[in-house]
Amino acid sequence: METQRAQVLGQARRYLEDLRLFEGSSFIAPSPPAEGLVAPLLAAVQAAPAEDRARALEGFRQEICQCTRCPLGQTRNQFVFGEGDPQAGILFVGEGPGEEEDRQGLPFVGAAGQLLTKIIEAMKLRREQVYICNAVKCRPPGNRTPAPKELAACAPYLERQIELVRPRIICALGKTAAQALLGETASLGALRGRLHQYRGIPVVATYHPAALLRHAEWKRQTWEDVKWLRREFDGTEL
Ligand code: SF4
Repeated sequence: METQRAQVLGQARRYLEDLRLFEGSSFIAPSPPAEGLVAPLLAAVQAAPAEDRARALEGFRQEICQCTRCPLGQTRNQFVFGEGDPQAGILFVGEGPGEEEDRQGLPFVGAAGQLLTKIIEAMKLRREQVYICNAVKCRPPGNRTPAPKELAACAPYLERQIELVRPRIICALGKTAAQALLGETASLGALRGRLHQYRGIPVVATYHPAALLRHAEWKRQTWEDVKWLRREFDGTEL
């Protein structure tokens, strides 16, 4: 229990340092954490202004954009960090950049990205209101599935993005993203339809838009998933 609380407090302290709420001062966490301190710290993070989160995300992007921790760093054209509302309530995670994303340096801008935009709009949201990123930030050659070692190398970056955006719910797009987030090896069929958790944040898994372009028959199930996602997010019935 104390270990878990210390971990949460450590995360909260990192958020606060990133968000520069304690700029110019040193913030030392008491050890063991004082009773009742974790919740107020996390509340402070939740209340942080959007510009602070945007600044923290941009700082993090600059920190890692030259990354060569895995072989994908040698073959990419552009590092693809992610984009969207820095305090989005819904965060979408895909597998990795495709050809167009690698060319533009932006996530989900090819044909699959256009379909994702339509899905978001069908959820009665605008693309700018959500946050979109991938499990790996560099394109696997030929759009192959990222290797487990590549996913593992990039996982801390995704974790940090999620910490900084702190969404209320995550949507994993496709099997690779769902497995990477949840540490599972089950099929997407087995992962769909269940509400999972990623570090305390609910996660819904559905089909990747690229798969929907090949299998239009999966669109109906995807629609059911995103209706459920929206309902879990804020109670809206589509
Ligand atoms: S995929 Fe991730 S870990 Fe690999 S080089 Fe790119 S940013 Fe680094």
